[in-house]
Amino acid sequence: MTTMIAARLHQYGEPMRLDRIPIPEPRSTDVLVEVKACGIVPNLARVIANFFGTQTPDLKIMPPLPAIFGLDPAGVIAKVGDQVRSIRPGERVYVNPARKCGSCRMCRSGQPLDCPNFTFQGYFGRSQEIMKAYPYGGLCQFITAPEDALVRLPDNVSFEVAARFGYFGTAYAAMKKLGVGPGQSFLVNGISGTLGLNAAMIALAMGATKILGTGRNVALLNRVKALASQRIEVFAVGEANAPPAGGADPLVAWAKSMTDGYGVDSVLDCLPPGASAAALMRALYTLRRGGRAANVGAVMEMLPMNAFWLMTNRIALQGSVWFTSGEGEEMAAMAAAGTLDTSALQHRVFALSQVNEALAGMDNRDGGFTNFVVDPTRLD
Ligand SMILES: [Zn+2]
Repeated sequence: MTTMIAARLHQYGEPMRLDRIPIPEPRSTDVLVEVKACGIVPNLARVIANFFGTQTPDLKIMPPLPAIFGLDPAGVIAKVGDQVRSIRPGERVYVNPARKCGSCRMCRSGQPLDCPNFTFQGYFGRSQEIMKAYPYGGLCQFITAPEDALVRLPDNVSFEVAARFGYFGTAYAAMKKLGVGPGQSFLVNGISGTLGLNAAMIALAMGATKILGTGRNVALLNRVKALASQRIEVFAVGEANAPPAGGADPLVAWAKSMTDGYGVDSVLDCLPPGASAAALMRALYTLRRGGRAANVGAVMEMLPMNAFWLMTNRIALQGSVWFTSGEGEEMAAMAAAGTLDTSALQHRVFALSQVNEALAGMDNRDGGFTNFVVDPTRLD
């Protein structure tokens, strides 16, 4: 077998097409993975409709066409390069799509996420060279990847669950920076969305004592609370609970009432594209003195941030993107041990030939509970 089927994008704004192309040979320190599941993210539909091209035409962050997308692949090692020593054909893996140059100061210091050439294999990124070196996203049958991108999957972690690792890992890496853990209160802004729900699951696994969450859809919020009703509390940020002009925000009053009057230890913002800066600021004001916030959400407006408030309240705010392969291994270990309980996810698996339907249907999802996965081994 020397060829495979890949879903490729030939023009922005057009559907992907199934093409037969050669199966690549792994270079010395690369592996070849047979993809069994690839997670698809809601943002992919915007990206292939040329969102970046219309927003910022000069930004050269998209891969050359035709391109194979697919950010979260999981599968089985089919072949290893001649310098790969610690992973063998037949092993089950998640492929972390985070690519780096490998030789800059940050890469050499063991901080690959801070590489100036940071690039997502199968998505977009800062280096055209890296995208050309790793042109295979997970929406095809075989992909090459560097050996240090692999997360070994325990037998009881399914490929479908691994296809969610991008979201889990994004939340997990940010929450490690926040110090989420036992004795800590933690607020997820946008807890019923894909990122927020996975953050709640990770917070339970990390032992957070009190997990607060905001959202708009009361039915979805109640489903999130049901994951662990003694530890999770939810707040609907609809019209009824909007902050009155010049008055105290009921969200802040609620968060304080849940934390002995202090406010929460940390906040993770997981708001979706299009959310307002004001919605993010409301969550920041739930922090206690000395509290920390991280942003992994998609608010694009300028924040009306009072630096004097930030200083006098000793508040920290940090951005966070993605996660290392080592953090992926930690998540796989938590999932294997059952401390990370992913059983509430509902997998919707599509054949590779249904990729365009899958992308078109993502607006009709059950908050973060629906996990959209493409199985490239299935062609109909
Ligand atoms: Zn680098």
